[in-house]
Amino acid sequence: MDLDRHDFELDDLVERIKANDNRLVALQVPEGLKMQALEMMDSIEDKSDAKVILAADPCYGACDLVHDKMRMMGVELVAHMGHSQMNIDSGMPTHFIPVTYDGDPELAVALPFLESHHTLALSRLRTVGEKSDLDEGGAKERFLDAVGRVAPLTGTMLGLIGSIQHLHLLEEFKSRLEKIGFDVIIPVGGNRLTFPGQVLGCNYSGDDPSIGHYLFLGSGDFHPIGLVLHTGKPLTMLDPYTGEASEMSFEHIERILRQRFGLIMAVDTATSFGILIGEKPGQMRRNLAIRMKRLLQNHGKKGYLLALDHVGPDLIDFYPVDAFVNTACPRIAIDDSTRYSKPLITPYELEVALGEKQWEHGYQFDEIP
Ligand code: SF4
Repeated sequence: MDLDRHDFELDDLVERIKANDNRLVALQVPEGLKMQALEMMDSIEDKSDAKVILAADPCYGACDLVHDKMRMMGVELVAHMGHSQMNIDSGMPTHFIPVTYDGDPELAVALPFLESHHTLALSRLRTVGEKSDLDEGGAKERFLDAVGRVAPLTGTMLGLIGSIQHLHLLEEFKSRLEKIGFDVIIPVGGNRLTFPGQVLGCNYSGDDPSIGHYLFLGSGDFHPIGLVLHTGKPLTMLDPYTGEASEMSFEHIERILRQRFGLIMAVDTATSFGILIGEKPGQMRRNLAIRMKRLLQNHGKKGYLLALDHVGPDLIDFYPVDAFVNTACPRIAIDDSTRYSKPLITPYELEVALGEKQWEHGYQFDEIP
């Protein structure tokens, strides 16, 4: 990562520290910027009278704001870098520090993908409503078929989205795309998202039936995997760091669906479950966990509620249960399940396994609203 091309915007933070006369500040930075954290701490301490404590535990999102332990240390303000505010209250005054990257990739490399995805969206739109009743076998097949599982569709617009460091590019890309004939929308999501076009690994609430395919400005496949699992819509990726374009392949999504299918089948005979509750403020879904416990009870099975800050194989594998249901970050079950020795499934997958939800509804992504 070329850090000289990132803007960390520490000035507003320093102004706030001075205005409030804060003496102890906690700094929370994403994993990719930890190497630069000491330099940032120097810079804040040089420009203000505050001492800075680095919250050095892993941090992957604004869902993970440090809270009560920092208060016990006497921290007056949390400075959280690289993520935007979501609809949670950690109980601590928090200053969000935006990070932007100045890379502006060429659109031309993405056009072949965008054109073929637009054609696919058009042909899907023509066949909307043609689906007939499915028998059990057909329904299971459809569950595994990402191409066949599409969120409601009324149009073929191009949805323009990005990860937070690149959101400032969206308006400019919208007009570039419109000039060459694409109908473009920058989707606006729910309360968990701060900015138009923003997506999180656990929230794609901006998806709209008028959108037939997507262009994602960002790097890595974390967000694209979630969006395509959630919508079944084709997605082009344009990476502002490398300038390269690619697509999120349906084969990849279908591999994940086959794995989910296998895990659902594997818990069929399970009688005891550990139900994981995330302690991080933006991951805590206590009511959902309790609902899963009741559901298991109704089916004559046992559920144990386990609250954790971090979730990892070494922290849960040893419990004498047959399987785990995860209500913490949804991506733990989707992206990391092979690291666990016992099946780790989402609440929706448990409902399917217990026969409460039907296969023909297709795969339902575990979204945190
Ligand atoms: S819950 Fe998971 S996917 Fe959602 S913001 Fe937090 S770390 Fe990211």
